[in-house]
Amino acid sequence: MRERWEQYVAGGQLEQFVEFAVALNSLVEHFARLRLPGLTRLCEGLENAVLPHIGDPSAHPLGPQAVASLQRQLDALFGSVSTSRNGSVPVRRQTEGVPVRDGEWVKPREVWIVSAAADDEVADGLSRQLRFFGFKITRVDWHNVPEDTELPLAVLFVPARARAEVDAEALRQIAVFRAACPASQLFYLGVAAFIEPIVALMRAGIDVAVPADEQPAMVVNRILDLIQTEEQDKYRVLVVEDSRVAATLIRRTLAEHGIDSHAIADPGTLLDTLKDYRPDLILMDMYMPRFNGVEATRVLRQMSAYHTLPIVYLSGESNIGMQVEALRLGGDQFLIKPFNPVLLAAVVKTKIARFREMQRSTQVDGLTGLLNHSAAKARLKALVEAAGYEGRFTVAMLDIDHFKSVNDTYGHPVGDQVIRGLAWLLKARLREGDLIGRYGGEEFIVALPGTDVLLAQAVFDRIRSDFAALPHTHPCGVLYATFSAGVAGYPAQDSASALTEAADQALLQAKSLGRNRVEAAPD
Ligand code: GH3
Ligand code: MG
Ligand code: MG
Ligand code: MG
Repeated sequence: MRERWEQYVAGGQLEQFVEFAVALNSLVEHFARLRLPGLTRLCEGLENAVLPHIGDPSAHPLGPQAVASLQRQLDALFGSVSTSRNGSVPVRRQTEGVPVRDGEWVKPREVWIVSAAADDEVADGLSRQLRFFGFKITRVDWHNVPEDTELPLAVLFVPARARAEVDAEALRQIAVFRAACPASQLFYLGVAAFIEPIVALMRAGIDVAVPADEQPAMVVNRILDLIQTEEQDKYRVLVVEDSRVAATLIRRTLAEHGIDSHAIADPGTLLDTLKDYRPDLILMDMYMPRFNGVEATRVLRQMSAYHTLPIVYLSGESNIGMQVEALRLGGDQFLIKPFNPVLLAAVVKTKIARFREMQRSTQVDGLTGLLNHSAAKARLKALVEAAGYEGRFTVAMLDIDHFKSVNDTYGHPVGDQVIRGLAWLLKARLREGDLIGRYGGEEFIVALPGTDVLLAQAVFDRIRSDFAALPHTHPCGVLYATFSAGVAGYPAQDSASALTEAADQALLQAKSLGRNRVEAAPD
């Protein structure tokens, strides 16, 4: 992006400016994927400054003032990128192979808690919980941003008490933290549910404003989600376009934004291609031989599998009536050729992000945020197939012990908190790439690719003893719970269902041997 900017400053051509804007736009995408909210925001601010200059060829070359102003914002961005480099960005670890050292199963992460009083009850409770899940907590004073330390994954602001007003001094301090920790996620706890204070906090740099009536415990879950930087599959776009030149241009633009694409010239092959390629979105040309784009869209909308698949028309059709008709018959949006690459990429990315989010919400369990039963089963099957039995692979089933009596004694809500506690402990202790699902009420399924039964047993035994020591609060004090687990692995079991069944048998064995233990299926 820097190079392209320099080229534009030297040449002053609109095309060069567009190239720069395209690079900037991909950078936004890149930072968003890495979950670097501060850097994403800086880039977006720059994008807003760039946008007005894109549509206006007569504005180029830009005057010295406009160039200087963009240069300032660029310098701020480059500065933030280099300060955020010193270790705060979680580095993804390959999950291939067997982790040798025990430490690899624990992910320590730095979290700052900013509170007014040193003996703040909420802040104390959060520190305890987060430490339990493997975070390193630093208590920080509102007026002292720590210097020369590793930058944190998250900063939690805990105000003295929930107030509708967030005072100007607090906002100023938040902005100081924001500038010091551009890559960290900033949380503000206990804001009243009014729009003004929340907007003020966001302007100061807060990423998540947690309403006062939301349990502080939910913050723990959100922070755990930050370290679950699950690798997103690349976005996939199917380009249905009879002109080879147009298809090439479209695919080049998509590739610049890290989007995978596949093109077909004949809509007659559409259904087969959809089955094989499984795109997240279709870019549909209007006029093609045999069928036109609207007819193809109408066919897809009659099939339940493609009811919600985003379809965007990309066509030279300039007749508004025709465009409206095309939308009415099942398209999601209409873009005009020749297309603006920045707009095309933005439309494709936002539509896909929403489509994926919608799909995800049907796969995730509301109480724990883990995969639900059917999603976990599907994922397990895919993992087993991908493993191809060249590597090691283990499946475990976990079930909380005597859980009925927890519910009977302390009530259902306390029971729910115990279930969440185990879910969070699993999230905190297992690796990225491991499958964790809520299989039933208080039953969990875990799959560990690249791991043999012996190692898995050791890992779960460690989690078992940690869980047994995890205090769960209830209105009259704390309670402790335990779980039992059964582990089974390849090659003794050679299909997803055989693995699950054998792990289940081993779990029954663990229960009958007295509970609070981990058993392996016999070879
Ligand atoms: P065991 O050690 O043999 O597993 O004994 P148990 O009492 O845990 O027995 P079981 O696994 O059969 O009991 C599961 C109980 O979990 C029954 C049900 O009331 C409760 N349960 C299931 N889903 C939920 C939930 O979402 N929240 C709460 N609080 N309880 C649940
Ligand atoms: Mg055409
Ligand atoms: Mg149970
Ligand atoms: Mg059960």
